Amino acid sequence: MTYRKKMAAGNWKMNGHWAELSEVSTLLERHPNPACDVLLCPPATLLSRMSDMTVDGAVMTGGQDCHTDENGAHTGDIAASMLADAGADYVILGHSERRADHTEEDDDVRTKAKVALNAGLKVIICCGETLAEREAANTLDIIGGQLAGSIPDNVTGENMVVAYEPVWAIGTGKIPTLDQIGEVHDFIRAQLERRFGEGVGRSTRILYGGSVKAGNATEIFAVSNVDGALVGGASLKAGDFSPIIDALEASK
Ligand code: PEP
Repeated sequence: MTYRKKMAAGNWKMNGHWAELSEVSTLLERHPNPACDVLLCPPATLLSRMSDMTVDGAVMTGGQDCHTDENGAHTGDIAASMLADAGADYVILGHSERRADHTEEDDDVRTKAKVALNAGLKVIICCGETLAEREAANTLDIIGGQLAGSIPDNVTGENMVVAYEPVWAIGTGKIPTLDQIGEVHDFIRAQLERRFGEGVGRSTRILYGGSVKAGNATEIFAVSNVDGALVGGASLKAGDFSPIIDALEASK
């Protein structure tokens, strides 16, 4: 069986000031040598400082988005190379909040991923259905389309992670059933194997995201092809994120 290192990734979204970096210190103290990858994606204003704090530690850092261009006249935007320059290892791309708030399409996500990979970043490509799409029994079609459109050709199990995040489960406290999570993760694995071959398909990590908390992490991490989590709200406090890391380390 192909080994895949588990990953606990936190997305701070538009939350956090300098004062909240104390949460990172606490996390580093609690997890000096985690058995899984631990990643925090703070707002851009904190990225450089957080990266400095974690440079010798067990926590990696990432951006939450980058521009489709390598540089240029795009006021307020961030280039992938700037994230790398600030110490980021990863960038989250195609998060449903970006897709909704900034009308990002699969094409944009794919272009961003190419630019990010060129800048030496690893990418977390997000996909997920809305509640209406699930209720219309369109989930797998939607996920298949997003994967096909958002992932560039030059990915490997090393430089890409896929995150399945049902839009209706993000920040709502609702999660799909474990069978529903398993069905989508198995489907994503099959799609990756079909397009990229068994080597890349089997070594790519697939994270679940959407209301993961200490109380549901263990059961979610036991689902087939769940290689970790992308966590929003529960990643802001070390006291909430740490038990999720513990659960992941203890998982199969
Ligand atoms: C997210 O937005 O990536 C997310 C999973 O958020 P939450 O954990 O708060 O549902």
